[in-house]
Amino acid sequence: MAETKLFIDGEWVEAASGETFPTYAPSTGEKIADVAKAGREDAVRAIEAARRAFDDGPWPRLSGAERAEKLRKVAEILNGRVQEISEIEARDGGGTIKKAMFADVPGAVSSFNFFADCAQNMPEVVERGESPFPPAKSIVRYEPYGVCSGIVPWNFPFIMASWKIAPAIAAGNTCVLKPASFTSLSAIEMVKACEEAGIPKGVVNLVTGPGGSAGEELAQHPAVDKVAFTGSTEVGRRIMQLASGTVKKVTLELGGKSANIVLDDADLDLAAAGVLFGTFFHNGQVCESGTRALVSRRIYDEFVGMLVERAGKIVIGDPMDMATDLGPLVAPSQVDTVERYVKLGLDEGAKLLCGGSKPTDLAQGLDPNAYYLPTIFEADNSMKIAQEEIFGPVLCVIPFDSDDEAVKIANDSIYGLGGGVWSKDLDRAHAVAARMRTGTVWVNDYHMITPNQPFGGYKQSGVGRELGDIGFNEYRQVKHVWANTATDRSGYLHFSALSANI
Ligand code: NAP
Ligand code: MG
Repeated sequence: MAETKLFIDGEWVEAASGETFPTYAPSTGEKIADVAKAGREDAVRAIEAARRAFDDGPWPRLSGAERAEKLRKVAEILNGRVQEISEIEARDGGGTIKKAMFADVPGAVSSFNFFADCAQNMPEVVERGESPFPPAKSIVRYEPYGVCSGIVPWNFPFIMASWKIAPAIAAGNTCVLKPASFTSLSAIEMVKACEEAGIPKGVVNLVTGPGGSAGEELAQHPAVDKVAFTGSTEVGRRIMQLASGTVKKVTLELGGKSANIVLDDADLDLAAAGVLFGTFFHNGQVCESGTRALVSRRIYDEFVGMLVERAGKIVIGDPMDMATDLGPLVAPSQVDTVERYVKLGLDEGAKLLCGGSKPTDLAQGLDPNAYYLPTIFEADNSMKIAQEEIFGPVLCVIPFDSDDEAVKIANDSIYGLGGGVWSKDLDRAHAVAARMRTGTVWVNDYHMITPNQPFGGYKQSGVGRELGDIGFNEYRQVKHVWANTATDRSGYLHFSALSANI
């Protein structure tokens, strides 16, 4: 049985307590490793190492191009290990090997390459013009914050780790990463690649362990300058509170209940595939999943018929098999949550169109308690199943009569993370997209997130942005330097605002 360690100050170490916790392959329920269980003490050691590496180490003092070179090396190492890391990712989290090989590992590789480009190409000093009187020159310096902690969820462990580590260190910060307890293993591989690439000690630290202790320390310790959190809205609120003690910079990527709007002039064939992909990809365990399909009443019956018919064709099985579309959820406890919501939906009067139970025909050896069928409800937007994030394979279909009504329903949510619009008329689709109060809208597509464009939430879906030049700048402070260029007192008339006699 594998036993993993923490990575602190360039060393692989056990938790101070010597304790470990198990991680399982949810598809079979089999234990696959004992993971070092960091407590507060370990988090503090990691933060202090990151602090020293920032205050006294070489990393923040390298040029952007020098840092870029190291990030590209990390990308190259990871790219050489796609198969191996994909297997770890799929086994530990239950996502399919197909998803890991096409999305997770290549996605993390491109994050490192993209933020390497940012470090190299986005200037650290920008001239901002001259003041005629008093004569002065202004520059703005973009500087790292210092120590950044990154806390990530279990649904995309590898990609999420790259979204925290790569921009932080590209900008010259140092960091401490905490993976989710369900899925600690793939982040270890990323940190090994950082070590192998020669990133100096203390720049990247890893603490695996519970959110309630190690995680809280990362959010509140005075030596941390920025907290970047991805996870539930509930824990996001707690992170904000903890960080407020020392007024840290905070970025939050939280939950969602995104609307996928199908207008009456949509290509129904494409839109049906897009709505199913938008909801059921990775069992709906995606923060921006389009879990509310808003469908024009003019095409409603035909379209919903297509959804139900095609949902039955999704192949459920062993995540390690390339032919599998959906594996288990992350754990049986997540299936319990889905079951609770399905019961609630039925109690609320939603009409169950398909699914609504665990599959009964799984292959031998797979854990039936970790799986759930793609489930479609006809619902009203006021129902809890249409308002609360389920984080499972449950789609609510909701009819509408006009574009105005579709926008109104879409925006009737505490969340605002993603959303889609399906129409053959791009002007009409853009008009709808412009009115959606949400951080990302896909027109005739879904789930496309690229490292070079910003991603984040409106309303209770988050604060700040990740990815893109905008996300990179969330890891850089802005310092204005004003230099008076006068050679005598005539350029200092403003001193008279105090006194002409000084
Ligand atoms: P979660 O329970 O909020 O946990 C997220 C992370 O926070 C985990 O590493 C967790 O550690 C840690 N944590 C828990 N309590 C903490 C505390 N008091 N202080 C500090 N850290 C704490 O979320 P999850 O169940 O892992 O993930 C699902 C949620 O993430 C969904 O709501 C989903 O929408 C959201 N999500 C959002 C995005 C986005 O970009 N907007 C992306 C992916 C997921 P433990 O694992 O040890 O509890
Ligand atoms: Mg696991």
